[in-house]
Amino acid sequence: MTRETYRSISLYAPNRAPAAIDLSDNTNLWGVPPAALRAITDAASGTITRYPALYATDVKQAIADYAGVSPEMVVTGCGSDDVLDSAIRAFGEPGDVVAYPDPSFAMIPIFARMNGLVGAPIPLTEQNDANVERYIEANAAISYVCSPNNPTGASFSRGAIEQVAAGVDGILIIDEAYAEFAGWNCLDLLARFPRIVITRTLSKAFGLAGLRVGYALGDPVLVAEIEKSRGPYKVNAIAQHAAVAALTQDRAWVDGHVRDAIENRERLRESLTAIGLAPLPSDSNFVLVPVRNALELDQQLRARGIAVRPFVALPNIGDAVRISVGPWALLEQCVAALRECTV
Ligand code: PMP
Repeated sequence: MTRETYRSISLYAPNRAPAAIDLSDNTNLWGVPPAALRAITDAASGTITRYPALYATDVKQAIADYAGVSPEMVVTGCGSDDVLDSAIRAFGEPGDVVAYPDPSFAMIPIFARMNGLVGAPIPLTEQNDANVERYIEANAAISYVCSPNNPTGASFSRGAIEQVAAGVDGILIIDEAYAEFAGWNCLDLLARFPRIVITRTLSKAFGLAGLRVGYALGDPVLVAEIEKSRGPYKVNAIAQHAAVAALTQDRAWVDGHVRDAIENRERLRESLTAIGLAPLPSDSNFVLVPVRNALELDQQLRARGIAVRPFVALPNIGDAVRISVGPWALLEQCVAALRECTV
């Protein structure tokens, strides 16, 4: 009675058991931006008893101002998860191919299958960049790149992204969930390549992961299709208020903690190097560290109250743990625990 294609999909369920210090999900460990927090606590009862704006018009306007595009180029969703899922559904017929880097954001092949599409993993280059030739060879209905890439941490090169954009006939999704930490982004490519869609989120730099607000930017024609596929009321009323507050009033707070994250990221990489590890370069708010046995190390760290994200046998990299960057007091304890562990 259930769909054949769904039976082999397993539930996305990373180990999110509570830990005293949780460095596992790349959220903003400095807290909630203050104006967003006020918007949440001051929400009137009318905000809750009535339906929210269908397509989050005010949030779109605030995002448009933040990104410097027109509101017709913005679509929101319940996290960028929802936006990515909706985009794949909007642009791919069942059976079409979604090309995605391997390793990258784990949900992409799952969203592809959930929508009846076929995932085609594209290995990274030796420099952990997008493999342009392989993308062009695949010439998928939907090509996905993630820059900065999760879990490797570094951005793809601008040249490679542009070559993929120029070389494929279908839609190119550029996932910029971590772009605030990179100091550059691909927004300007939207004007040159009308088949590009950029997805972003308020879950990382903006500290609102629990509210689930994500968005995509692109040509109004593409954006309208994603919006149809997404459906109405996907961003709840409180999330809409908080998102507008964060985007319009909390920018200095966000920028300040992005700077903190960048500073602490480099300090963390130095400390890890000093204890004999070899963290990968990062443009994000996390650092990937190759280790001998990620699952065993994860257990050892959890026993010390610290959660990181373990990865087993990543192509080119092997086992690794991904550590979110936050206030130094937390990272210091993570480094101290790592020093005690047999990695
Ligand atoms: N893209 C990337 C690369 C991510 O790492 C994540 C979250 N881990 C997402 C998208 C989805 O984030 P959200 O749904 O919270 O916007």
